[in-house]
Amino acid sequence: MIMNTKINSTIGISVFLILCCFSISNQPLSAQNADNLLLKNYRPVSIYKIPETHVDKAAYPVIDMHSHPLARTDAEVAKWVKIMDACGIEKTIVLTMATGSEFDSIARMYNKYSNRFILWCGFDYTGYDKPGFGPSAVKELERCYSLGARGVGELGDKGLGLYYSEPVKAYGMHFDDPRMKPLFEKCAELHIPINIHVADPIWMYEKIDSTNDGLMNAETWKIDMTQPGIIGFDALILSLEKAVKENPKTTFIACHFANLNHDIDKLGSLLDKYPNLYADISARYAESATIPRYMKAFYEKYQDRLLYGTDMGYDTSMYRITFRVLETNDEHFYETGQFGYHWALNGFGLSKEVLKKLYRENAIKILK
Ligand SMILES: [Zn+2]
Repeated sequence: MIMNTKINSTIGISVFLILCCFSISNQPLSAQNADNLLLKNYRPVSIYKIPETHVDKAAYPVIDMHSHPLARTDAEVAKWVKIMDACGIEKTIVLTMATGSEFDSIARMYNKYSNRFILWCGFDYTGYDKPGFGPSAVKELERCYSLGARGVGELGDKGLGLYYSEPVKAYGMHFDDPRMKPLFEKCAELHIPINIHVADPIWMYEKIDSTNDGLMNAETWKIDMTQPGIIGFDALILSLEKAVKENPKTTFIACHFANLNHDIDKLGSLLDKYPNLYADISARYAESATIPRYMKAFYEKYQDRLLYGTDMGYDTSMYRITFRVLETNDEHFYETGQFGYHWALNGFGLSKEVLKKLYRENAIKILK
């Protein structure tokens, strides 16, 4: 019998995170007369008579390196496992971002399926702005590790500091801050990786006007650079690079291609320089499926460093859209319901070898 147990305030985080993935902004709309059509209501439908390939189950077993505690009851977790079975998802990394009693309540629920879900905890930044910060945060990390945490994440900074965390948001403290070092060193000692969200897609930093190529999402998620103390896109990428460089024994995963989809070679140069850096591809399928040939070459070149991830809920249709983008050579298809952008998407047609590494082998290497 499945008992219903509730998860407490981490729910807020999960909902916030689903929203963060820009994935549910465009609801289906009935066809509208073009005379006074608002751009945001433009819903093009492809009519090309070209192959459409729907992939129900991934070609090879998958470890999803980027999800969150979205299932809030035993019944929802059981339902998620069924969906994972149907789509070929062997395991899911649940980035709880939680510590203390929050982490404990998530652990109580998901550890019942410890062969399908692996929990990652957060950092407790309590007292980060006072002298002597460090030892108690490290102690809490060790406590979460003893309860099954096998990684840390998602840490997040969009310019105001490390605020993807509970119970304390570390405003003003960035990844390369010396106060983070004892935590990074403890992760190296425990052989657990860290998932990091740095900045946001570049269109959110660009002018919100008719020249903005990613306007549909950028308008909704624009970053207000007038906020006091905020640091910009380049400074954030630099803070990530410094943290990775100064902690060579710690494994870092920059999620969402480090939000460098517009300048993917910049990510390539970071991967070239730092063997302890990986990237997950989660929630940036639209941002990459607009440049399929360039991205296919990137996947092939960095096939040992990229990790499959979703970060877009756990609907069957969501998983299948990701498989279509990664595995097929389909062209010019729209998924505005999943992704806010109005770009047509294209498949990468990745090779068997690249898919096996992306879906599972690289994850196994990191999760050893
Ligand atoms: Zn996330």
